[in-house]
Amino acid sequence: MHEANCPHQDAGLHKVSQSMPLQIYNSLTRKKEPYISPQGSSVKFFVCGPTVYDYVHLGHARTYIAFDIIARYLEFAGYRVRYLMNITDVADRLVQRAGELKKDPLELAKEYERAFKEDLKALGITNIERYERASDYVPQIITQIKTLIDKGIAYQTETGVYFEVKKFPKFGQLSGQSQEELGLRRLELCSSKRNPEDFSLWRRHDTGLRWDSPWGSGRPGWHIEDTAISIAHFGDTYDMHGGASELIFPHHEAEIAQAEALTGKTPFVRFWIHTGLLTTKGRKMSKSLGNAIRIRDALNKYTAAELRYYFASFHYREQVKISDFALKRASNRLKSMRKNFNAFQNTPAIARSSGETKLAALIRKAESDFRKYMDDDFDTPRALAVLTSLSERLSKLGRARLDQRTKESAARAFLRMADVFGIL
Ligand SMILES: [Zn+2]
Repeated sequence: MHEANCPHQDAGLHKVSQSMPLQIYNSLTRKKEPYISPQGSSVKFFVCGPTVYDYVHLGHARTYIAFDIIARYLEFAGYRVRYLMNITDVADRLVQRAGELKKDPLELAKEYERAFKEDLKALGITNIERYERASDYVPQIITQIKTLIDKGIAYQTETGVYFEVKKFPKFGQLSGQSQEELGLRRLELCSSKRNPEDFSLWRRHDTGLRWDSPWGSGRPGWHIEDTAISIAHFGDTYDMHGGASELIFPHHEAEIAQAEALTGKTPFVRFWIHTGLLTTKGRKMSKSLGNAIRIRDALNKYTAAELRYYFASFHYREQVKISDFALKRASNRLKSMRKNFNAFQNTPAIARSSGETKLAALIRKAESDFRKYMDDDFDTPRALAVLTSLSERLSKLGRARLDQRTKESAARAFLRMADVFGIL
């Protein structure tokens, strides 16, 4: 996927470095851990997609651009990324919205799924290999629920089927909560549950979007949708699962519980990766708070490269504060990087150059620093600084008169790094 988007790649240079392995912060263990996999191997990477009942906003852009950069860097570093995203087209919010608009829920979901994909494309997010809709996985979901009931971990009531959290003692490991703390959490208010912390696998519904099941007609719970999709494609265990940090509890906690209780294999996912929030004027950007800026509206004001540059100037785990002032400043920085790079490229080449040794050393150092920072839990702010400083040096070196081949090879190296951010 990424190859087609990246004409500057030079296959020979892309080897997975085994001496200094990539370190990734794992939310499950709360520390950076080496990501060790053989060179050229594939990375099974799942990221939670949106519930498609409205247009997506800049909060989503923050998350999906961060994971796009991570996927691009993994490819740059020599891995082959198998990037899978679910589309939540089975959800109460969607059914409610469709009811208000007097539309079929799955038709409405398809409209917003189309809009979502258009927005991602406009943002230059091109690495997602597969999108899978929850509504296409109902048979797999039913099979998983049956197994959980057979194992005595899930139970049926008159309102549906629930996962009994007490039966999975590791519940709480991802969000760092004890069983006592979890007992105080009331997930999905429903009087028929055995315990307040239990969550639904299936809810009975006699109207609206629904499927037949051994437990009456209804629809699946949100968490089991992702477990069914990821296990269908990646098997019982896989490499990386990404999502916004607000999904850690209960969503990702529930995914681990369902999958590990189901398969008996642990860990379900080797690395859990979470992005920080996007805030504006001190508040989280969200549709429910009424402060959401749609991606398509933002793209009328800023280019995708400007938004990507801005998000890359924050570490993916950091909170991003967004404002017009900050975006304009980032856009000026990107302009000057472009100007410097163009100045380097536009200086006429000469037949024989004198500066190639200096230039080669400069590029080597920049590439090594770039990898060092990206290998350190995808430290994009520092890697971006390497690129900025390289563009300044190149602009000055351009005047030193270089031959065509030397210039081209330096330009390729620069663009290859810039392409990890998708900013030029
Ligand atoms: Zn999810």
